[in-house]
Amino acid sequence: MNYRFLEEKIDDIRGLPQYADCGFDDETLIAFFRVLEDRRGWELVRINPLALAEKFDFRPDDAVSLFLLGAKVGLFAFEWSLLCPRCGCRERTYGSLRALDRDVFRCPLCDAEEAVAADDRLEVSFTMPPSASGEWPDQVVSLPEYWSYFFSTSVDWTGELLDDFARRSAGPQPPIRFVALPRGGKARIRLDAARAGAVGLVTLETHSAFFVRMKDDANRPPAAIDLEYRDSGFDRREAFAPLGPTEIALANRARRAVGCLIGSPDPDFLRSLVAAHPPSFRPFCSGKLLLNHQAYRDLFAPDDLPDDLSLKIDDLTILRADPEGRAGSPVRSRGGGDSPSARRLFDLLAAVARAHRGAIERRAGGSITATFNAPLDGIRAAVRMAAGLEESAAAGEDGGGIRIGLHRGPVVAVKAGRRLDFFGRAMNVVSRLLDLADPGEIRLSEDVMRDETVAAYLRASGYSGVAEEIALPGPANMVTVYSCRR
Ligand SMILES: [Zn+2]
Repeated sequence: MNYRFLEEKIDDIRGLPQYADCGFDDETLIAFFRVLEDRRGWELVRINPLALAEKFDFRPDDAVSLFLLGAKVGLFAFEWSLLCPRCGCRERTYGSLRALDRDVFRCPLCDAEEAVAADDRLEVSFTMPPSASGEWPDQVVSLPEYWSYFFSTSVDWTGELLDDFARRSAGPQPPIRFVALPRGGKARIRLDAARAGAVGLVTLETHSAFFVRMKDDANRPPAAIDLEYRDSGFDRREAFAPLGPTEIALANRARRAVGCLIGSPDPDFLRSLVAAHPPSFRPFCSGKLLLNHQAYRDLFAPDDLPDDLSLKIDDLTILRADPEGRAGSPVRSRGGGDSPSARRLFDLLAAVARAHRGAIERRAGGSITATFNAPLDGIRAAVRMAAGLEESAAAGEDGGGIRIGLHRGPVVAVKAGRRLDFFGRAMNVVSRLLDLADPGEIRLSEDVMRDETVAAYLRASGYSGVAEEIALPGPANMVTVYSCRR
């Protein structure tokens, strides 16, 4: 570990103008660096901030902010990985969101396509560069290392899945074997299949797969298969062999070493197995979480975002508010500039959004838009915003009478000029809810109210809701909304 580099980076972080806004003290920053100093090998590669937070007792939001501050000063590199929702395999990893430009991706293990979505298929992790960590683990050393490199550390395969997998793959060999070939290296891989089916060789470096399809055919002699691995992957996709001993002579003609998983059964079986016993994912920092994180917005967006960004988010909670004060609307700027009271109100709402895992953006005309990872975060922020402005009004300052609309739904994240924006019908719905809200009222869509935690939180906060049918523009447009007041 390069301790001098770490010392420099602590000072660089303290010097960032955004550091003071992150909401934790200097002791937390020092504690974070103490934890980093003791990490080794894979612990410094593709770090999941939420897992580190849980293990070392940081607040999850603080941990994400700490990694973002670290990334800003060059202590970490971002890694954006597309995860297969079935098996947890990392399909591709990008150094920047800029490189992520596809609508679908294909998992080589499941041999199936998945839509790209920022919610749960896009993991953002952080890697310390070798110049700082002083080491770089070699992924082709062993099966556990290879697994660490290519599977998300947040995926858990169930015991049933592993048992079924081992049963189906039962034979003289273990269910999954691993072979690594240096550049120019050769290996003889013996397969001994007792029943019909496919035996696969899968390399995750190039997401290339080769299958030997075993059939019961007494008339054919034992098979010997020559296979080459090149920079673009295996030189063919499949071969046929009779049941019994088969030998593959594999040669690595690529420019670098390659690792290879052997024995993964055919994708049809793997898909049915994973469907019966789906793996679970521990919390990780998703693309959606990051886009909703104020520190990411402050430190990286919009410069870090590609101009043609078009990233689907399946379920975003959107709050739109008009913090109209008693004396007119102080947030609306006169002559282009904000009045001090407008600035103060905006800062108050931004602090509330940040405290509830949300990010906030000001709109033309004085309204604000805040986005959240979950409806409960959105409703808690809405109630807190209303209370904060009431307290402000009671103290004789501007405030009180805030109007709020809250909705959840699918959106597409885009870059609009100099800011991150969200696009889709859900955005129109939340604007309509805000239009309908009177001062002091929170208007919720049924999609938000359906979440039991939201309804329970409203009741506990002394709010009651009245349902109403309203018409939205477009076809099939009658929706139920709730007018909520204390
Ligand atoms: Zn998969």
